[in-house]
Amino acid sequence: MFDWLVVGAGFAGSVLAERIASQRGESVLIIDRRPHIGGNAYDCYDDAGILIHQYGPHIFHTNAQSIVDYLSQFTDWRFYEHRVLARVDGMLVPIPINLDTINRLYGLDLTSDQLEEFFAARREKVEEVRSAEDVVVSTVGRELYEKFFRGYTRKQWGVDPSQLSKSVTARVPTRTNRDDRYFGDSFQHMPAGGYTRMFQRMLSHPRIKMMLQADFREIKRQIPFRRLIYTGPIDEFFDFRLGRLPYRSLRFEHVTLDQEQFQPVAVVNYPQTEAYTRITEYKHLTGQNHPQTSLTYEYPTDVGDPYYPVPRGENEALYKRYEALAAQQPDVWFVGRLATYRYYNMDQVVGQALATFARIHKSVPASSGGVASRQAAE
Ligand code: FAD
Ligand code: UDP
Repeated sequence: MFDWLVVGAGFAGSVLAERIASQRGESVLIIDRRPHIGGNAYDCYDDAGILIHQYGPHIFHTNAQSIVDYLSQFTDWRFYEHRVLARVDGMLVPIPINLDTINRLYGLDLTSDQLEEFFAARREKVEEVRSAEDVVVSTVGRELYEKFFRGYTRKQWGVDPSQLSKSVTARVPTRTNRDDRYFGDSFQHMPAGGYTRMFQRMLSHPRIKMMLQADFREIKRQIPFRRLIYTGPIDEFFDFRLGRLPYRSLRFEHVTLDQEQFQPVAVVNYPQTEAYTRITEYKHLTGQNHPQTSLTYEYPTDVGDPYYPVPRGENEALYKRYEALAAQQPDVWFVGRLATYRYYNMDQVVGQALATFARIHKSVPASSGGVASRQAAE
């Protein structure tokens, strides 16, 4: 019998499998219904030999040194600061909106102070900032909201920004200086050999066994285990008994071109009429030298693998009811973006998994073969 079954080999499941095996010496079976490890962060070489991200661009960024230290056991890093341009009114301009965005878009030559005044004259007074629309119109005004946010958000989420929590667009700052980095975090690096190699190192522990193309719904009837870490969709765990939690999906179109470079930065956003939201060119992320280049177009959809919890009040209320059911499950821990229905970045999932491990390690006695129980007995 396995001491632990871990469902899902993404960040949440892999961190917990690694911690449990290496710190408690217990046996772990980690399964995933996909044919690979890494969850949505999985990367691989395509037919042209270019390293691509199968599920869209994944850029690692964090302010937490403890998370960097933890992951650095399994990977070296390549410095990379993410920059994004948006195609608006036929121009390519920086997003997050900054001084250059406004000067280029409107043919102006404003200073930062003048840009403050520009925004102050346009921003709308919102009594209480609640929605994804409120965040933007109360910062930069309606015209810029419509150019950069309304169309993109409607495409991405299938609903109007007025129907989404403020946390969605609050992820994207507005700047009055010329900083054109997408993220402001202190640590912005990519795993030097890619994400999948980092996951391989995390999971190559003699106490960890792995099964791919293995669905929990089938495995739970066949393989005995004592305790469970579950990182799949929480509503599915409970057979949707309270109704379905909406998760937004994406269709990825991967293409390779016979040219060295397609666009000036890794990601170009399309907030206006195109059906796709963004195009990613991976060589900018990885630094790979290659005469060809590979791209991914993202088309948002409701059908397909669950990628994004949809942050809005009614969904959060339904999640809370599932969370209450989850709290009654003995010896089961729900972790990660799908199981806790949170729009988390990779570093936040790693932080959540490490915190869950700390709680487990404090409160759950290790089973008889484990290091902790051997130490206690000595
Ligand atoms: P997942 O990676 O989804 O892993 C869960 C795994 O569980 C999956 O592999 C799934 O197959 C498996 N599973 C589910 N149910 C079952 C079952 N019943 N049986 C067996 N296996 C099952 N974060 C960043 O920090 N930076 C970025 O730039 C970034 N970009 C992103 C771009 C896109 C397009 C998306 C979708 C996400 C992005 N993220 C980014 C977020 C990042 O992908 C997540 O934070 C992280 O991958 C979540 O890890 P997880 O382990 O919680 O979930
Ligand atoms: N967004 C937008 N226009 C942009 C970039 C972002 O409207 O050019 C909104 C959109 O709703 C998006 C959200 O801000 O879903 C968060 O953007 P982020 O880049 O963080 O999305 P992710 O990388 O998670 O898909």
